[in-house]
Amino acid sequence: PAPEPAAFSRDALADVQEHYYADPPRIERGWRQHLVDVNGRAYLDMVNNVAAIGHAHPRLTEAVSRQLALLNTNSRFNYRAIAEFSRRLADLAPDPLDTVFLVNSGSEAVDLALRLVQVATGREEMLCVAEAYHGWTMASDAVSTSTADNPNAMATRPAWVRPVPAPHRDPDALAKALAMVGEPAGFIAEAFYGNAGGIPLPDGYLAALYAEVRAKGGLCVADEVQVGYGRLGRHFWGFEQQGVVPDVITIAKAMGNGHPLGAVITTREIAETYRRVGYFFSSAGGSPVSCVTGMTVLDVIEEEGLQANAARVGDRLRDLMEALAAEHPIIGAVHGLGLYMGVELNRPDGSPATEETSAICERMLELGVVVQPTGDHLNILKIKPPMVLTEDSAAFFAAALARTLAEGW
Ligand code: PMP
Repeated sequence: PAPEPAAFSRDALADVQEHYYADPPRIERGWRQHLVDVNGRAYLDMVNNVAAIGHAHPRLTEAVSRQLALLNTNSRFNYRAIAEFSRRLADLAPDPLDTVFLVNSGSEAVDLALRLVQVATGREEMLCVAEAYHGWTMASDAVSTSTADNPNAMATRPAWVRPVPAPHRDPDALAKALAMVGEPAGFIAEAFYGNAGGIPLPDGYLAALYAEVRAKGGLCVADEVQVGYGRLGRHFWGFEQQGVVPDVITIAKAMGNGHPLGAVITTREIAETYRRVGYFFSSAGGSPVSCVTGMTVLDVIEEEGLQANAARVGDRLRDLMEALAAEHPIIGAVHGLGLYMGVELNRPDGSPATEETSAICERMLELGVVVQPTGDHLNILKIKPPMVLTEDSAAFFAAALARTLAEGW
């Protein structure tokens, strides 16, 4: 791990975590990109990458209510919705990925992906990227070495996990990673560092690592739980940005718009190998209500042009953030693509502005905007709003941030 900047204080980090994760605003309802708290006060939601099609979308409410009144059961039965939804997910994935497993969350999807890869290769070792986050269940947590999410991550990881250096911390990260590829079962990565603040991997990074891992007989997993499903605007999948096709894709978050829903998409060959020796059954994974939820979310993304909206409003937001950065040196970088963005705040000596980021988020909340710190040093403003964000809302966010920075927080 990179040495910690001298000005960075662990106590400050703990305070920020306690405030934002233990005492969030008390929200009662939502509408599109807005939230309303228990006192009736409205906020612009700039962080909710789960409610992709917006909060309380009437079409989703209606479709789910109708299905609930008809049938909800486990996936031991063959019903139309599971076949249709699986087909649609397979159609969205690049060839030759055409086999779908439906689960209830991103963590479960990552757990299953790791098992598929280990069983298909008959090997155990998984390479992952340091400081990434992939979930909280046993295996997904093991490949998550983000200390912001789990301060003990590096100390408690099992022997089968080998994190390669974080590319945004070390200019030689790719060369070092390539040298670490022995005979792994596989390699898991996001195309952008989600929990590190939306930082993209360097160009060519995944292509080089995928080639090396495959040359050594391993398989490659793209964790698309945060980055996939159209939020990037330019691409539906994050791995497209890196010009690669993975062997296994994990998805969740946006696909259920808040309803627990996740999936693994892989090749028939990998799925068949697993089915010969392993077991898969999830009682609620792929339930009729989950499948109708998933299909309605996809309908809305497609029919309302939300991927194109993410591209257009994301570009506008980036311009606004870059204009602010030109005026306020505390903004060290604007990361990300589309509506998947991180605004990094640093002190004049380049160290992370952790306490300042926390104070800015508190002031923004007073001004009616929910935005939160992210990244290993909690000095990055996480900007992953519902994909229905409008240009007016982007301008409102930028104005609130400009006012906060001008006040000196
Ligand atoms: N992978 C990534 C990249 C994530 O961002 C997350 C959630 N933040 C997960 C996996 C885990 O998903 P869940 O919280 O649905 O279990």
